[in-house]
Amino acid sequence: TKVDNPYSGAKVYVNPEWSAKAAAETGGSRISNQPTGVWLDRIAAINGVNGGMGLRAHLDAALAQKGSGEEVVQLVVYDLPGRDCAALASNGELGPTEIDKYKTQFIDPIATILADSKYAGLRIVTTIEIDSLPNLVTNTGSRATATPACDTMKANGNYVKGVGYALNKLGAIPNVYNYIDAGHHGWLGWDDNFAPSAQLFYQAATAEGATVDDVHGFITNTANYSALKENNFTINDSVAGKSVRESKWVDWNRYVDEQSYAQAFRNQLVTAGFRSNIGMLIDTSRNGWGGAARPTGPGATTSVDTYVDGGRYDRRFNTGNWCNQSGAGLGERPQAAPAAGIDAYVWMKPPGESDGSSSAIANDEGKGFDRMCDPTYTGNPRNNNNLSGALPNAPLSGHWFSAQFQQLMQNAYPPL
Ligand code: BGC
Repeated sequence: TKVDNPYSGAKVYVNPEWSAKAAAETGGSRISNQPTGVWLDRIAAINGVNGGMGLRAHLDAALAQKGSGEEVVQLVVYDLPGRDCAALASNGELGPTEIDKYKTQFIDPIATILADSKYAGLRIVTTIEIDSLPNLVTNTGSRATATPACDTMKANGNYVKGVGYALNKLGAIPNVYNYIDAGHHGWLGWDDNFAPSAQLFYQAATAEGATVDDVHGFITNTANYSALKENNFTINDSVAGKSVRESKWVDWNRYVDEQSYAQAFRNQLVTAGFRSNIGMLIDTSRNGWGGAARPTGPGATTSVDTYVDGGRYDRRFNTGNWCNQSGAGLGERPQAAPAAGIDAYVWMKPPGESDGSSSAIANDEGKGFDRMCDPTYTGNPRNNNNLSGALPNAPLSGHWFSAQFQQLMQNAYPPL
């Protein structure tokens, strides 16, 4: 039987591989004992890539960390056919039609391992397919943000089928807790995305044999940079006769930060048909925005833009920016039950792992080069044609990026 909040009263698994990389950095031992997500980002990751730890090795290590208490292990299930359809940096190994391979060579073997009775005492949190379903809502059809690849994945149904299949297989295991990816406020917080996303998630959660009982909750802000709480302005403020919603930064969004979005979206999901006791996770690995540039109070009330821009912690050019954001810092340290409706703040994206390379790098991981990771790129409709804001000289997505790790520590908020 599953507990209501798997994080309550539990330790969370520290990935020894990430921990070693963090500890090897100057100052890294301040955070190297923090729990981070284990990404199953390709079929080979199940057995371990390049001699690294595979899934069983992680679960065995988790049992060793567990002792006599409770232990959560955080997995990211991330290998859908046609993955990352609105970007290139995390394109994966499976083509758009390879749904059967996804089922039999990725999800089934993971489910077999997780169902091993040896691991029955662990609380296994699985976050399901980052950025996939939201792309079907916002980056398809007649919208200016549409991409051909996302249109394909909507038309062939393989994101919905893949997520449904994963939820069904993994949710059947008594100690596995599925959390579906729910984007972030700067993506789904607009009216034309908010309710339609909840409906699409319900569709996926009732596909391929899955039911809402296979869904323990949702995760927001995975690998993103949206601030947890903007304390210097609210969505209800007006300045010089204009609502904050009319500012260039907020641009008619209903939410100004991640926690208010996660709590409101939880309610929307219940309205859409999910259980009333679902819980939210928020990835706070890189949304701290501290350091010397952090505003200490509200912006000037000259105009709604000076007010919002002078007060906001999130210093991106646009909330559509997602790659290796310059100026970002570590956010809240992982913790259980920090606020109503929130099961935990988590570090699902391991700090120091790149979001994508700044220039094209040949590789055998299926990773492309996305110009959103190039600091000189002036953007596209998905970031409202702003500069990318990315750090230079980044390696491939998932690879260690020392300069980013150092900046994240420097700009941590709360500070280290
Ligand atoms: C990459 C994955 C990586 C993950 C965690 C993603 O952007 O595509 O390969 O495992 O980030 O760093």
